[in-house]
Amino acid sequence: MSDCVFCKIVAGQIPSTKVYEDEQVLTFMDLGQVNPGHVLVAVKKHAENIYQLDESQAAAVARASARVAKAIRDAFKPEGLSVYQANGKAAGQTVFHYHVHLLPRHQGDGMELTWPVKNPPREKLEEYAAKIRTAIG
Ligand SMILES: [Zn+2]
Repeated sequence: MSDCVFCKIVAGQIPSTKVYEDEQVLTFMDLGQVNPGHVLVAVKKHAENIYQLDESQAAAVARASARVAKAIRDAFKPEGLSVYQANGKAAGQTVFHYHVHLLPRHQGDGMELTWPVKNPPREKLEEYAAKIRTAIG
């Protein structure tokens, strides 16, 4: 069994605050300690980087990112939303499983997230995820 934390989340072995799921992609609120409140769009297949995605998987990540981004916009009305992808040790990643981060933003406010609470505590994530799921419809 893989010791990849995202593979364990996909397999349901680690609980996650799920926002959206389809056959190829799992989207969840970051459990993380480092960046609480990021929404992560992760391809289900273990792929360490974009080179390991086929075009269908890459398209699925983009499609899910757009769908969830619009739902975040509708549910929380942030001033902006950043989408970024960073993989590999050189990018400071510690999980080697392809994923994209969605971050609602305050204008001109660096890395602060625009949730009702900045850098929300773990117990708020399910409430926010439920709002996003409702907005996805
Ligand atoms: Zn993995």
